[in-house]
Amino acid sequence: MARIGFIGLGNMGGPMARNLIKAGHSLKVFDLSEEAVNFVVQSGAEAAKSVKDAAKGVDFVVTMLPVGANVREVFMNDGVLAAADPGTVMIDSSTIDVESAQAAAAAAKEAGFIMVDAPVSGGVTGADAGTLTFMCGGDSETFERAKPILQGMGKNIIHCGASGLGQVTKICNNMLAGINSLAAAEAMVMGERLGVSRETLYKVISTSTGRSYIFETSNPMPSVVATSPSSNNFKPGFMAKLMLKDLRLSQAAAQAAGSATPLGAAATAAFQLLIENGFGNDDTSSIIKVIDPKVK
Ligand code: NAD
Repeated sequence: MARIGFIGLGNMGGPMARNLIKAGHSLKVFDLSEEAVNFVVQSGAEAAKSVKDAAKGVDFVVTMLPVGANVREVFMNDGVLAAADPGTVMIDSSTIDVESAQAAAAAAKEAGFIMVDAPVSGGVTGADAGTLTFMCGGDSETFERAKPILQGMGKNIIHCGASGLGQVTKICNNMLAGINSLAAAEAMVMGERLGVSRETLYKVISTSTGRSYIFETSNPMPSVVATSPSSNNFKPGFMAKLMLKDLRLSQAAAQAAGSATPLGAAATAAFQLLIENGFGNDDTSSIIKVIDPKVK
C-alpha cells in the first residue's frame, strides 16, 4: 500500500481521498479550507500543514484543484516539485487547460519526476462510489505506475496518449455533454409548445435516434426523469459554471487545433447567457432556462 499526499479536498477531492483510505493507502492531506481537511481527517488521513508538507515523504501526490492556475501554483511555485522526495509520482486529476497540464508535466520532468494528467468523469456520485472514469495523459510507464492508485478511486482507467491528452479527451466529452444538454432543452421546449406532452416526448425520443445519455438521465425538462436535477429544482449535479469553464477550455483547444466546433461555440454562448442571468450555481440542466425562462 502506498503513502499518498492529496491536495484539493473539495466536492470531488474529499470523497476521492476517502476512497483511497478505504483502499488501504495512508494519506497526508491539504486544502486551503480547514473544514475540507477535517472531513477527510475524520476518515483516517493525517492533516498536512502546507502543500509542501503534503508532498514530502510520500510515494504519490494526487491533486484535485479547480483551474490550471491552481495546478501551476501548487506544483511549480515553490510547492510540490520543490518538496517531494525523489521517485514520487505526480497525478493531477483536475480538469484544466491542456497548456497548463503540459507545462506542469514538463516542470515535473525537469525536476526529475514523472507526472500524469488524469481528469475524471462521473461527478460527485462517481467520486463517492469510487466508480470514476480516469482519462490519462503521459507515457506508458507513468500510466502503469499511476494505475493502481487510480483504481482505488475509479472503475475505468484509460490511457489516452501523451501528456495533456487526458485533458483533451475530457474536454471533448464535456463539450459534447454541454451540446447535448442544450439540444435536449431545445427539442423538449419546442415539442411541448407545439402540443406534445413532455412525457410523450421523453418516452418516444429516449427510444429513438435523437436520444443521448444526457437526454435520458439529466433531461433538462422538469418532471420527466425523477432523478434528473431538473426535477429537483436544478440542484447540482454538475454546476452550470463548471460546464461553462469546460466549454471555454474546449473552445481554446479547438482554436489551437484549427478545428471547427460550431455547436461547441453555440453551447458556450448559451451557457454564458445562463450564467449572466444568475444560474451559475444551478445544475447544467438549467440551460433550459435560456430557451424558456418560465419553464416549470
Ligand atoms: P471544489 O471547488 O469543490 O474543490 C476544489 C478544492 O481545491 C477546494 O476545497 C479548494 O479550497 C482547494 N484549493 C484551491 N486552491 C488550492 C491550493 N492552492 N492549495 C490547496 N487547496 C486548494 O471543486 P470540485 O468540484 O472538487 O472540482 C475539482 C476539479 O474537478 C475541477 O477542475 C472540476 O472541473 C473537476 N470536476 C468536477 C466535477 C464535479 O461534478 N464537481 C466532475 C468532474 C470533474
